[in-house]
Amino acid sequence: MLLGILKETAAGETRVALLPESLKTLLAQGISISVESGAGVCAGASDEAYTAAGATVTADRASILANADLLPIVNAPDAADQAKLKPGAVVIGFLKPLDAPEALKTAIARPVTLLSMELVPRISRAQSMDALSSMATVSGYKAVIMAADLLPRLFPMLMTAAGTIPPAKVFVIGAGVAGLQAIATARRLGAVVEAYDVRAAAGEQVRSLGAKFLDVDLGGINAEGGGGYAAELSEEALDRGRDLITKTAARSDVIVTTAQVPGRPAPRLIRRAAVEAMRPGSVLVDLAAPAGGNCELTKPGETQIINGVTLLAPLNLPAEVPVDASHLYARNILNFLALIVKKGVLTVDLNDEVQAGACVAHEGKPVNPRVAKLLEPPAVGLAAFGVAG
Ligand code: NAD
Repeated sequence: MLLGILKETAAGETRVALLPESLKTLLAQGISISVESGAGVCAGASDEAYTAAGATVTADRASILANADLLPIVNAPDAADQAKLKPGAVVIGFLKPLDAPEALKTAIARPVTLLSMELVPRISRAQSMDALSSMATVSGYKAVIMAADLLPRLFPMLMTAAGTIPPAKVFVIGAGVAGLQAIATARRLGAVVEAYDVRAAAGEQVRSLGAKFLDVDLGGINAEGGGGYAAELSEEALDRGRDLITKTAARSDVIVTTAQVPGRPAPRLIRRAAVEAMRPGSVLVDLAAPAGGNCELTKPGETQIINGVTLLAPLNLPAEVPVDASHLYARNILNFLALIVKKGVLTVDLNDEVQAGACVAHEGKPVNPRVAKLLEPPAVGLAAFGVAG
């Protein structure tokens, strides 16, 4: 069996799916590993390191695509690469199956088995494969570091002979994985932190990190969507959150916002008025930018300065920390591979909850029902022909 490691081609991508130290257990099973030259260079892994680990390094990307039986990757290959994949191969990575299912059509038709790291069920057995959590952890940390760097103030309280500097005030919206890491990082830097989440359960975690949890009375609405995620809220319930956010923004030096509802556009929680209420020099980092953003002024991927407030909307923060993001991702991938590669033999078992949950397509057909629905041809409206439905 041949496992291929490609150099990522998406703009700004610096991560790699497997590092040289990830290869030992795979090579010990008799698997051959072919690495595209330069694949790990941004993540601190040279071609020589892969060669020393026992892989073959080649500049011939097309031959890896055509011959690899197993292709762990970070981002989905583009259509031209998909058309070169070996039929029956298994591709595993962040495939964006719910955001951009159309972009996977060539691979599905090849046919290629597609396993999505985003769809790995978040059950305790699969925790070690939870790449969304790994990347959210990196993003939450980096968002605070970027904000601290841009803020024209210090984070910690300083008592000096020249006087006392008060601590920076950080407001974190959405206390999931990224938000909790943002809180922990801001606290370590000495900031005073407040946080808001619709899930009441997040309150205890926020407080355990030394931050203040801001509660909103949602009028008895159930904000828990299942699996630990938030539910999509009504406009009325969202408005209660928006009011709290506008009030809190006025006293915050930094806002890091991370609120998301799986499979839905990010909730618009931060009004223009909230940004305008912040002091000039303040910083807002919208980590929900890939899903459209939590702030109504966010332009995904762009940095704006609005009334002196810097609004960042990064699309791929893990790529700003490529060494450790790749280390975590490679561990997640390796743990998933342990499910599908046994004694050097590759088998995807769709009776297994984790593999079935992650499987986007197998043997030419979409497996995930949500992806299948998204890929259905649009129903021809009978009404258009004057026929009642
Ligand atoms: P996420 O990225 O979907 O959302 C981030 C946060 O935004 C969540 O805490 C959510 O409650 C919050 N949010 C959504 N709408 C909001 C709104 N209108 N206002 C304020 N906040 C809003 O979530 P995530 O970080 O991936 O994880 C969320 C939950 O899943 C957490 O409870 C986490 O502990 C749990 N989780 C479980 C596992 C596991 O069991 N393996 C793994 C990862 C996460």
